[in-house]
Amino acid sequence: MKRKIKSLRWTLLAAGIIVVVGLTAMNVYSLYALRNSSIETEQQAKKIQVAEFADRVRYRFFKTLQENSLGGWDMANVEETFQATGQFPESARTAIYQASKDSIFKNIYYLPADAEACQNGKEVLRFQPQTKTFTLVSDSPNVVCDGMEIARTRMKMLMDDDYKFNNKVLFDTHRSMVVALVNQDSRHVFGYLAMPINQHYMINNYLQSQMAETFGQGAESKLNIWLRNWTNGDIIASSSPDMDYNPDQIEFIQQFPDFFDDWRLYASFDETSNLASSGPSLLTNLILLGAAFIFLVGAMLFMFITAQRERELAERQSGFLANVTHELKTPLAVMQAAGENLADGRVNNEDRLKSYGSHIYSEAVRLRKMIDKLLDVAKADAGQSFIHPKPVDISSQVQKFISEHRNYIEEKGFDLQTNIDDNMPQVMLDVHSLDTVLRNLVNNAMKYSTDKKFLGIYLAHKGKDVILKVEDHGIGMTKKSINHIFEKFYRVEDTLTAKTKGYGLGLSIVKNLVELNGGTISVTSQENTGTTFTVTFPAIAESQKSTQNHSATHKSPTYVN
Ligand code: ADP
Repeated sequence: MKRKIKSLRWTLLAAGIIVVVGLTAMNVYSLYALRNSSIETEQQAKKIQVAEFADRVRYRFFKTLQENSLGGWDMANVEETFQATGQFPESARTAIYQASKDSIFKNIYYLPADAEACQNGKEVLRFQPQTKTFTLVSDSPNVVCDGMEIARTRMKMLMDDDYKFNNKVLFDTHRSMVVALVNQDSRHVFGYLAMPINQHYMINNYLQSQMAETFGQGAESKLNIWLRNWTNGDIIASSSPDMDYNPDQIEFIQQFPDFFDDWRLYASFDETSNLASSGPSLLTNLILLGAAFIFLVGAMLFMFITAQRERELAERQSGFLANVTHELKTPLAVMQAAGENLADGRVNNEDRLKSYGSHIYSEAVRLRKMIDKLLDVAKADAGQSFIHPKPVDISSQVQKFISEHRNYIEEKGFDLQTNIDDNMPQVMLDVHSLDTVLRNLVNNAMKYSTDKKFLGIYLAHKGKDVILKVEDHGIGMTKKSINHIFEKFYRVEDTLTAKTKGYGLGLSIVKNLVELNGGTISVTSQENTGTTFTVTFPAIAESQKSTQNHSATHKSPTYVN
């Protein structure tokens, strides 16, 4: 049953720790998930911003024509008028005139779809802003004819696919924009407006400023954009010209829709972005979580260990009670039987009478000693001070103890070695306490020695301290046991201890008494080698001696052992 409860307790502790670890892991996971989702949301927003920018650049090219209602031109009329007069109708000419003033284009050319313009030298029609008319020229740049060829191919496919609008804007990458003019009445493309792009203007006057304006510059910017030619690695423009392009920091790449084929927008997040600032807050959260985790597990272990200790103490106490009752009953039983025999008057022989008397006496002494020990513990527990210190010549006290017990110790087969420094300063001590301390330590040394029966009692002084040592070459103790021997009811679990009588109270009383007398106690021990207890008391300073001596004469000790 006991074992079951013990294993249940361990299982519950393990389950508790697993739950705390699990909860912490879940929290860490959700913190990361939260961070990742906020990164994703922010990245998404930035991607949309860059994609919109690319669309805006596209619109920039046909903005002027669009604002002059290109979409509303009556294309049948435009085609007819051109065929009849060699020029566009007035409204279209005004629109083209407006576009020709836009610095983003170098010139505007017109190539009728049926004429083999580009095959006959380079003869094409170029718009003359002064007269708002098209005139034939033969020095057009290659881009004009190239652009038209590309547009012609694309339009062929589009018209097959049931194209519905009256115009289509197409690009020859970053070199030219071509507007195919579609007559939906007869469903054919009748001409192309080819507009070579002024790259210098577009990059330096438009893209550069637009990027800075859209994405911000310097500290307030959260996004850095580089316009880069991926075929040769040239940086064409940048929203943050002070920053170097670093491929490792690029978060995403955006293409332009249908144009600038070999150009791309490369985006990186700035240090000041929310994303970067989420790092430290994540760290704070993780630290807090870690602290909470350590606290929880620590509290659980603490509660478990203290409960365990209390249980052990309770077990030891109940064992002690059982022992004590037994120990008290034995002398009582002897005394009762002897008393009965004497009362009956059945014992007349003088020798037997003497023997009964000494039996009763020795059992009564045993009983008194046991009761005294119990009282010591009870008093110490109640925190009562039952010591009466006075200046003591400690060396003569120890000498006295040795001479009183020498015979007994040697009779038990012990080699008793002593080294008592005679020239000792006085110590403020309760002599009865000193006696109890010595008795317990010597008793233990003898109880826990087997083959090597050696007992050493030494007294010396070092600086302001008086040092008393009791040494044996007995069974010794493990480090683990040393930590507990001064606890009440603690006994080392080994066979010799089990065989020897004791309640695990002696050392707890010793420690208590030493401390009540202002001293300290320590122990060094090695298994199967021996143990040395060291008790240190502070000596009385010379100046204190005379006053202490004087006052001590009026005190009488009330401690009884
Ligand atoms: P006990 O009545 O059991 O002797 P103590 O409080 O005097 O109780 O000692 C507690 C335990 O410390 C003992 O049970 C014993 O295991 C260990 N102990 C004490 N003194 C010695 C020693 N000199 N050598 C080895 N073990 C010792």
